[in-house]
Amino acid sequence: MTTKIIEYTYYPEESASATTLAPETQTDSQSTASVETTTVTEAISQPVVTSAETHLPLESDSGSVSASESGSEPEPAFDPAALLVNPVTAIPDGYKPDLVSIGNGQQADHRVKDALEAMLTDCRKAGYNPVVCSSYRTIERQRTLFENETKIFMEYGYDRLEAEEFAAKWTARPGYSEHHTGLAFDIVSASYQKLDYSQENTPEQKWLMKNCYNYGFILRYPDDKTEITGRNYEPWHYRYVGLEAAAEIAEKQITLEEYLTQE
Ligand SMILES: [Zn+2]
Repeated sequence: MTTKIIEYTYYPEESASATTLAPETQTDSQSTASVETTTVTEAISQPVVTSAETHLPLESDSGSVSASESGSEPEPAFDPAALLVNPVTAIPDGYKPDLVSIGNGQQADHRVKDALEAMLTDCRKAGYNPVVCSSYRTIERQRTLFENETKIFMEYGYDRLEAEEFAAKWTARPGYSEHHTGLAFDIVSASYQKLDYSQENTPEQKWLMKNCYNYGFILRYPDDKTEITGRNYEPWHYRYVGLEAAAEIAEKQITLEEYLTQE
């Protein structure tokens, strides 16, 4: 394993620098405001990422035959935990979440809206001020973000392939972002809107990390699981997996990859 230490100027997936929940078209122009310089130790080798290929998207984790396979029902039951998207598992071809507005120009899968609102409402009732700075994203949008991220590493002298590998730790490749599902949200503190590791110290993140499971969410990229998720620590990215899966993932302190491949 070759380890390189680089000085990394961190542009977040989505700029969270806007003081309000701004549409993506506006956040682009403000992205330079949230640039963070961080020393990052990176391993060149590929992380161990579980693809969980045995689990078909939207198929129940119980192993039962889905409705689409049996042909008796028009739609399979929705199991958000079974929709795995990670660095080695793209969103299924043609997958289109049924989107609803969640305000401020953002959209999410309609099946997560109530849970998200309940979590944010309770967080605010507890005295905090969480802001959703990124939610559903198209593949085209992700392509732009990934290209921008790659260029940053190329400016450090890496060739394109290497630069893309580094970039992928921070910004998913197009087709491989959980934000395509409409079930993932970047949530920050209104008083600290940078997407960097210090986000974990905000009272909003402390509340969310402790309580998100009660609403069916998990912190998707924990600090101690980067080898499994293939993504760097993101103390702002929450993913809806449903109450049951979230409770089990919390109790066992595992990732979605581990949850889907456990015996
Ligand atoms: Zn995210």
